[in-house]
Amino acid sequence: MKTALVYSERYLEHDLGYGHPECPERLDAIVKLLEKNNLWNSPEIPVVAPSPASVEDIRLAHDPEYISLFEQLCKTGAAIDGDTPTYRNAYEIALLSAGGAIKAGQLVMSGEVDNAFGLLRPPGHHASRARGGGFCYFDNIAIMTRRMQRDFGISRVLILDFDAHHGNGTQDIFYEDPSVLYISFHQYPLYPWTGTVDETGARGAEGYNVNVPMPPGSGDREYAAAINEIFKPLCEKFKPQLIAVSAGFDAHAMDPLTQLELSSEAFGWMAQATVDAAKRLCGGKIVFLLEGGYDLRFLSESVLNVVRAMRGEKFKIPEKVNKLKVIDDLKKALACKWGL
Ligand SMILES: [Zn+2]
Repeated sequence: MKTALVYSERYLEHDLGYGHPECPERLDAIVKLLEKNNLWNSPEIPVVAPSPASVEDIRLAHDPEYISLFEQLCKTGAAIDGDTPTYRNAYEIALLSAGGAIKAGQLVMSGEVDNAFGLLRPPGHHASRARGGGFCYFDNIAIMTRRMQRDFGISRVLILDFDAHHGNGTQDIFYEDPSVLYISFHQYPLYPWTGTVDETGARGAEGYNVNVPMPPGSGDREYAAAINEIFKPLCEKFKPQLIAVSAGFDAHAMDPLTQLELSSEAFGWMAQATVDAAKRLCGGKIVFLLEGGYDLRFLSESVLNVVRAMRGEKFKIPEKVNKLKVIDDLKKALACKWGL
């Protein structure tokens, strides 16, 4: 069994300035811990270098006007928003990050490896068709999804986004597209202030955008309910041909940016649920792409658990779950489409 880790040292060049939480040390900490646990660069766990995405690739998910605007902003170093500065090489590194996502998708879809994790920076899920923001420039997972649909002739892709923030960019890009089922677990209210249960998809794609807004303080028992009652049944009904995971780790209890309470083990059993679903439904084809996660120790510990789950190690999902009112509301909102 083979698990690819897609990574480039050039991702460490992406530096948004002193004190910015989306810092190069995040990837350093992940690589060091994987090395220490013998999960880095072996015949079974190859580390694969990406090549940059082309502008044509980026256009699969973004407006040409936004792509050229971002390229121009990088030349002058003007920021996209207060959290999202640019600098001379940001455009180039963002292309390499999207290229890493594509590489991870290709390795899995071609059958070269069983599954893959793109250890990428910058992250992508806040970048919508027409603008970046929230530390994101290009939506890596959306670009990868569209490339795989085109190159491998698949239609149905399920994206699970467990980053603590709502993936407003990914939602925007696929909002009118019933070939992609987007499921997001995120804290609400929190940046970017979107992601309510009634955002279920545009006409023609109703029910293909599924938001599970978690109240602050939610932890393992609430997430276990969301996995059991939303993720698993929707997977069975949608029958994806590829599962892609926007893997952010800022829902960890120790994360400085959010008020969620997940344990490091929770990332293991959430990953295991997705890996198991992929095995049942699409020949195990699953791609994880790094989004957020800002406490270096617990980010790396949680990534380690995801890689262990990708390698078949077992984690225990909590038996006791906490009922969430939002899950009942969501079931009502989705009932006519999925019959939950
Ligand atoms: Zn986040």
